[in-house]
Formats: sequence, C-alpha cells, structure tokens
Amino acid sequence: MRVLLLGGTAEARGLAARLVDHGIEVTSSLAGRVVDPRMPVGPVRIGGFGGVEGLRNALAEYDVVVDATHPFAATISANAVAACTTGPVRRPLLRLERPGWAERSRSSWHWVDTHEQAATEAARLGDRPFLTIGRQRLALFVPALRERATLARVVDEPDFELPARWRLLTSRGPYELPGELTLLREHRVDVLVTKDSGGEYTWPKMLAAEELGIPVVIVRRPGVPGEVPVVAGVDEALDWVRNQRRLR
Ligand code: NAP
Repeated sequence: MRVLLLGGTAEARGLAARLVDHGIEVTSSLAGRVVDPRMPVGPVRIGGFGGVEGLRNALAEYDVVVDATHPFAATISANAVAACTTGPVRRPLLRLERPGWAERSRSSWHWVDTHEQAATEAARLGDRPFLTIGRQRLALFVPALRERATLARVVDEPDFELPARWRLLTSRGPYELPGELTLLREHRVDVLVTKDSGGEYTWPKMLAAEELGIPVVIVRRPGVPGEVPVVAGVDEALDWVRNQRRLR
C-alpha cells in the first residue's frame, strides 16, 4: 500500500506521521514554494508534477492519493481530481480539509469571493490594514492600498518592491492571542484581511480583532470541483487509508 500525500499543511504533516507509525508507505509531496519548509516525517518529494498529465504519470507509483493541501491551493486539488478520476491510471482519492470559519462568523466580518474584492473592501473599511493572505496574492492588494499604512505578514519575502508606506513582517504561525493583540495595537491596525483558512493555528488574530473592535475582511474558499470524499481531520483520513488497505 503506497500513499501519495499532497501536503504543505500541518494536517498533512500530522497524517504523514500517523501513517509512518502504522507502517504504511507514504510519500509526502510539497510544491517547493517556501524556502525552508517544515518537513514531514518519511520520504518527501518536492516540486510540481507538471499539470494533470504529470500527476497522472506519477500515479503509477502509488495506490491511493490523499489531497491534504491548503484549502486555497485550488489548482493542485483540481489536478488531483482530474488525474485520479479520469484517464488510464485511476486511483482512490481522499480530500483532507480542515473546517473553515464560516460557522464562527461574526457581524463584523465582511465576506468576499476574491482577493481583488478583499483589497477594495479593506480600502473602504480602514486606513491601516493588516494583510494575512500570504505572499502569492499580495501584489493584488497594491492598487487599492498603495497609499495606506499597510502591514503585511508573510512567511517568505515577496518578489516585488512594496509601496513606501507598507511594512513587511516575516513570521510563521502558530500564533497566540497576547502576541496578536500586541501586534494589532502597536501597528494601530484598523482592518484585518484574511482568507478562510480555517483551523486553530491562525485563529487568534480573529479573536484579537474581535476584542479590539476591528472589522475583518475574509475571502471565501474557492471550493474543489468533482465528487471526492472529504474528511476534516487526520484521524478520519488515517481510517480511510487503512480501509483502502483492507479493500485491496
Ligand atoms: P496551487 O495554486 O493549487 O498549485 C499550483 C501548482 O503548484 C500546481 O499546479 C502544482 O504544480 C504545484 N503544487 C501545488 N501543491 C503541490 C504539492 N503539494 N505537491 C506538488 N506540487 C504542488 O497551490 P498553491 O496555492 O501555490 O500552494 C502551494 C502549496 O503550498 C500547496 O502544497 C499548499 O498546500 C501549500 N500552502 C498553500 C497556501 C495557500 O494559501 N495557497 C497556504 C499554506 C500552504 P504542477 O501543476 O506542476 O503539478
């Protein structure tokens, strides 16, 4: 039983560790975006597959696939669906996705569908935005927020020059409430911008915003096309893999 685990998340690392514990052969796959990624237990491959076709070719080496990528990594998830469910080499595919924050939504949250809309909404709501949407889409916020005293928190530095009034903070979660409160106060943040990443690692910023009466702009998840079984946690994903082993 060989598992291909599409990763880059804490849940993926958690599942890799559990599979290794259970003596199940697993290879974790990382995109290679982060300079110094947190490495999972067990064998790791790094870099894209080369689209759906490349992923299809890679499937010959594996028996099942678990897509535990980030909820906003929509391309690789769509590629996994296409590769595993169509074409000559089909494989059982599970989606491991942490629950989003929609059920915890507050009246001070402003939901939007795209990063561009988030930028416009942030400009409407405040003068000192705090961007926690990652590095890859950061440039989309420049047109609307160029003149605002913007704080942007990222893991790795972006590859473009930031507007003069912007400040960059490089750090990696998880974060705690006291630190988030201090940060928001120190920078006099008046609007928080986030994606609906879900989970607990980055939740304290939402609590800090609530405590300080700061509005939140939140980007909805893109959603994954296709009929794929979805689980919310590592335990359920482990059960699914073990069940696949029994079925073989
Ligand atoms: P994406 O837009 O869905 O994927 C773009 C391309 O990157 C894919 O077509 C694929 O290249 C390659 N790729 C993505 N994930 C891969 C993986 N786990 N293994 C091998 N190749 C992968 O993805 P993204 O939003 O850039 O995210 C990249 C990675 O960072 C993901 O693994 C994700 O779990 C992690 N991450 C993303 C976010 C986020 O907010 N997007 C946050 C935290 C962590 P090919 O087409 O060449 O195969």
